[in-house]
Amino acid sequence: MQLRGRWLYTGPMSISTKALQKTGPNEPFQIATIERRDPRADDVVIDIMAAGICHSDIHTIRNEWGQAHFPLTVGHEIAGVVSAVGENVTKWQVGDRVGVGCLVNSCQECEECRAGFENNCLNGAVGTYNSTDIDGTITQGGYAQKIVVNENFVCRIPDSLDFDEAAPLLCAGITTYSPLATWKVSPGQKVAVLGLGGLGHMGVQIAVARGAEVTVLSRSLKKAAVAQSLGATRTLATTEEGFFENHRGEFDFILNTISADIDLSGYLRLLKPRGVMAVVGLPPEAQALKFNALINGRKVLTGSNIGGIAETQEMLDFCAEHGFGARIEKIGVDEVDAAYDRVVAGDVQFRFVIDTSTFPAE
Ligand code: NAP
Ligand code: ZN
Repeated sequence: MQLRGRWLYTGPMSISTKALQKTGPNEPFQIATIERRDPRADDVVIDIMAAGICHSDIHTIRNEWGQAHFPLTVGHEIAGVVSAVGENVTKWQVGDRVGVGCLVNSCQECEECRAGFENNCLNGAVGTYNSTDIDGTITQGGYAQKIVVNENFVCRIPDSLDFDEAAPLLCAGITTYSPLATWKVSPGQKVAVLGLGGLGHMGVQIAVARGAEVTVLSRSLKKAAVAQSLGATRTLATTEEGFFENHRGEFDFILNTISADIDLSGYLRLLKPRGVMAVVGLPPEAQALKFNALINGRKVLTGSNIGGIAETQEMLDFCAEHGFGARIEKIGVDEVDAAYDRVVAGDVQFRFVIDTSTFPAE
């Protein structure tokens, strides 16, 4: 069904959309027509213009984090335009430029939700994909042309950001903004961003905008010039001889965005006394930690999981105000399998974004 404008809620109706779907972890993506859940009176329908590829999509759909529910469509970096609103919707109008991130619902009543931490909902937030929706179906993500979302889980994309550079902010942007804001990273501080991928390149730009002196810690110096263009003062190759000894005790704050196994204890030793490492990277394997790396110098090891909806809006406005978005490579719907391999190889600067207008008309 093609809903347009403001609809009166008269009971179940379904919305079909073209989407990229996998039927198993090792199968290629295929174009399918899927049904969105029935829109309710407090939902909006969004025509998706751009969908970012996050490494979490890859971990999920390749079953690296456990069993995904197939057939599955992933994607939680969504930018588009509101095409229809339910009769009770008050925040949005048809034509609004909007984004949706990793959450499409939560109980909206618990202590965490009321405090703006829908990401920590005590009754279980509904993830944008591979999660049980309010009607019991499995949520399907943003590699598609349309999505139905509760109006409270939608953010406004500032006019100065185009859809392609805005889409990745809905996950990579908020995931790095939130710990940098929570730990009040500020001028004069020495910050290291560990891993210069999708999350890392947002972390650099946001930490620089907060006034910190930023060093990129990357596996090689291949990305040094582009790191500088993002505002980093230097790049260090973590594979250089004597790296952990040479840079011991240098940093006030490390933002760890690595998606694979690392020497966590070694990196903690790069912190100054009382320094903080915020982990956002989520490698599938458990990571070993030597407690003396934490205890000596009273270091803080903390984690962070995306952010709440109000904070996501704050982040979008912050990026627009400081004049940056994500740096992206735009691809068509038939290029996603190849793009996944390039993400895993660290070969993208810095986010692939799917142009949803490349879905075939029929
Ligand atoms: P990405 O674009 O692939 O970037 C990850 C970076 O990690 C790479 O660019 C690379 O940096 C480094 N890296 C990769 N493999 C490595 C290895 N074997 N050894 C050392 N470094 C390696 O991924 P992303 O989308 O930014 O996501 C990063 C991680 O964050 C993923 O695990 C993802 O699931 C997770 N994540 C978490 C949240 C959250 O809420 N906490 C949200 C989104 C994503 P260099 O090339 O510079 O070395
Ligand atoms: Zn993500």
